[in-house]
Amino acid sequence: MSHRRRPEKNTEPSTAKIRIKPSDACPVCARPSTFCFCGKTTVIENNLSVVILEHPQEKFKLLNSSVLATEILRNCTVKPGLSWRNLKAATGSDLNPSQWAILYLKGTASESAVTLRNRSKQVITDFSGIKGIIALNGTWQQAKTLWWRNPWFLKLNTIELNPDHVSMRNQVRKEGLSTIEAVGFALSVMESEPSIMAGIADQYRRFIIEPSKEYVPSEE
Ligand SMILES: [Zn+2]
Repeated sequence: MSHRRRPEKNTEPSTAKIRIKPSDACPVCARPSTFCFCGKTTVIENNLSVVILEHPQEKFKLLNSSVLATEILRNCTVKPGLSWRNLKAATGSDLNPSQWAILYLKGTASESAVTLRNRSKQVITDFSGIKGIIALNGTWQQAKTLWWRNPWFLKLNTIELNPDHVSMRNQVRKEGLSTIEAVGFALSVMESEPSIMAGIADQYRRFIIEPSKEYVPSEE
């Protein structure tokens, strides 16, 4: 999912919707096989569990970053799907919903880099009770669908992001972070470890953003 303040027009063409032909893709990392990143990534140790719930239509998007996130982050899994019965079905975790936080797509204006709220919308300044983060991967509309189909999301804490930089993606809307950037930003702040964001940003640029500029779909 993307984290956006409010819709803003960007006159440049967006690359966000370009799809990779499945026949061109590496079966493991789902990147164009000429830009396969398998075995080339550097692993980052993160303490918080990360689960990316991915709308099924996202897999072959050229800028999809979820597989890269699972490659880079020691503690990260991606689950394609539309609905899960509950937190345990989605994450495999026995933890209480109050120990999980979901990245929330509609940030409110805030001074803090990360605003954590409990299910009653109260701000929590101590992040230590949080053990896992759920991120939604999909368009704005797809993320809305996931919220609607998974009412148990409402039991989770929410995380709103106020990033200090814009995304590397050429987005329809400015300030929309990719899933991997949003996860990296949240982890960096919540674990007080800026190197997480730096390591993710570097690899996101090298393995997704730069190669994507050169992708030409093969002939049938
Ligand atoms: Zn690969």
